[in-house]
Amino acid sequence: MKKSYTRYSIAFLLLLSMLLSCLTSCARKPKKFETTWFDYFDSFSQLTVYAERQEEFDEYAATCQSILKEYHQLLDIYYEYDGVVNLKTLNDLADKEPLAIDEKLGEFLLFGKEMHQLTGGATNIAMGSVLSLWHHARETEILPEKEALLEANEHTNIDDLKLSEDGNFVLFSDDQLKIDAGALGKGFVAEKIATELKANGCQSFLLNLGGNTVAHGTKPDGTSWLAGIENPTDGKGLEGSVELSEYALVTSGSYQRYFTVDGTKYHHIIHPKTLYPENYCLSVSVLCPDSAVADALSTALFTMTVEDGMELLKHREDTEALWLFPDGSIQTTDGFMNHVKTEN
Ligand code: ADP
Ligand code: MG
Repeated sequence: MKKSYTRYSIAFLLLLSMLLSCLTSCARKPKKFETTWFDYFDSFSQLTVYAERQEEFDEYAATCQSILKEYHQLLDIYYEYDGVVNLKTLNDLADKEPLAIDEKLGEFLLFGKEMHQLTGGATNIAMGSVLSLWHHARETEILPEKEALLEANEHTNIDDLKLSEDGNFVLFSDDQLKIDAGALGKGFVAEKIATELKANGCQSFLLNLGGNTVAHGTKPDGTSWLAGIENPTDGKGLEGSVELSEYALVTSGSYQRYFTVDGTKYHHIIHPKTLYPENYCLSVSVLCPDSAVADALSTALFTMTVEDGMELLKHREDTEALWLFPDGSIQTTDGFMNHVKTEN
């Protein structure tokens, strides 16, 4: 009698432990969570995460949203916010006296200066005076006067943006200097969010800020996060997908933001010498570990020939690019296709 009682107890305990281990392993299997915001940077922002629990994802999403909101306000050139010194404040007042700024804004401006240097001036955040004429043209569908563009171009010298050594004060030494964050903003913010999510223990995520894509980790089955490249000439896209593990993919294209005058399309990437939209290619995609650098480079490469672009990337071993041309053809740096996975 005693023996069978013991046997039953052991069987029961075994069953219980199997049940428990099944329950915990089921609970631990990461699930896919996703959320999209439409309130930031005049674009969509999407976060996809593999996490064990909804609450875990909610925390990551809250972190992501709070960084999006903070930088959206800091980099805004159209609106001011209570208690925030942002780019609009600087564009309005920094020519009058040195203005105290948040260190995050200081870091962004310094990065803008570095990217100006890296791209030989092709990506210039101090081109705001010229760009504002084009922003206005997009709204009114009336082209800016050539003279107005030339006059505005007298006020685009990035050296007139003076930053104190600690990055806490800004002064413009040209009273018509204007900063425009458009070419770098989303990539810079994506990088900030990715760094914070990793620091918070998020092990597998894909972040897409209006086409600036950053990924970390792999999906639970061990495969990489993937991103596609659109091809507006055939409505399909690059055959295959770009594997993103620890890389950012940023595309600058002329086919999404544009306006039309007399049948001619005018898009939003402006050549710093001609002061007009550059139509050499339809899009440039840049793959590199840092999404902020990728964003700066994609805008810059858009205004250059492939040869000049290749020259710019020559010494950057971790950076690859793909150019898409109006006839649908593509050209890439040597290593780009190593990151592309085709289905077969
Ligand atoms: P998107 O913001 O659509 O992803 P880009 O990263 O290429 O595309 O940035 C384009 C934006 O950058 C424009 O809307 C404009 O505000 C700004 N911009 C355009 N041309 C330049 C340039 N040569 N240098 C710096 N900023 C630019
Ligand atoms: Mg860019």
